[in-house]
Amino acid sequence: MVKLEVERELSHKEIKELQEEIRRLAEEKNAVILAHYYQRPEVQDIAHFVGDSLELSRKASQTDADIIVFCGVRFMCETAKIVNPTKKVLHPNPESGCPMADMIKAEDVLRLREKYPDAEVVAYVNTTAEVKAVSDVCVTSANAIKVVSKLESKRIIFIPDQALGNWVKKHIPDKEFIIWQGFCPPHFEFTAREVLKLKEIYPDAKVAVHPECHPKVIEIADFVGSTSQIINYATTCDSNRVIVITEVGLLHTLKKKNPNKEYIFPQSMNYCGTVYCCTMKAITLPKVYETLLKETNEVVLPEDIIQRARKPIERMLELS
Ligand code: SF4
Repeated sequence: MVKLEVERELSHKEIKELQEEIRRLAEEKNAVILAHYYQRPEVQDIAHFVGDSLELSRKASQTDADIIVFCGVRFMCETAKIVNPTKKVLHPNPESGCPMADMIKAEDVLRLREKYPDAEVVAYVNTTAEVKAVSDVCVTSANAIKVVSKLESKRIIFIPDQALGNWVKKHIPDKEFIIWQGFCPPHFEFTAREVLKLKEIYPDAKVAVHPECHPKVIEIADFVGSTSQIINYATTCDSNRVIVITEVGLLHTLKKKNPNKEYIFPQSMNYCGTVYCCTMKAITLPKVYETLLKETNEVVLPEDIIQRARKPIERMLELS
């Protein structure tokens, strides 16, 4: 067993030892480790699979491992439990939530449903299980336009992200959108001014932007897409320099996939005084180790919520 002082910074040697021990434990316990692209590099490196929300929920639904260790924020762990409820899903840091997911409650959705009875509720996967349970269909940033365009309703209630909602609305002008005014603090805080400044410094660079960014930032982009779509674009486009407007954790994968390019991320301070999503980074290697070793922090959801929340997720997977 590795001895730990959880909060101190680990040396390179300790990181390696811990990574080996986590992978050994995972094998012994038949556990699969899933990690989001925004996780710390040393956490991404122990994962059996690194992906965005859609890819990770697909992996979680297909795995035959007994335990899923989910290195992501709370709504992602809940989604894993919903799509594969017989598995033990462990969340290495239960404090790691998504501020945007917490900007809407199930009661808010029910009120909107009452006000617009003919509308379908489209929930970004960045929502709690309770909110999914009162929604009609889920979407991710990778499939939102495709899924919403296939819906029959002319009126759409889009929750909770205003930026993604407006991005989808722009592509589907024949539908009416009622958009909840939630936002992702790290993405929404990038400013157009900052991106234009980077373009001035690097005039040959292409600009790739996540749709959770402010519409004024999206306007400047050469490419708009989900994290996996940005990876694909940035690593294969014809420019050797790409300005990437999303969470800086993506840099680890970009460098691995194509080390010959230069990836430029904005340096602005955001809501937690850093350049990254601090809740994503609240999952550390020692926390993953302890969680897997002791099998603690299990994600538990009421059975009826699992049943009801599964329907909009399954509908999304069918439509996408
Ligand atoms: S990056 Fe934004 S949407 Fe993703 S977990 Fe952080 S706050 Fe939530």
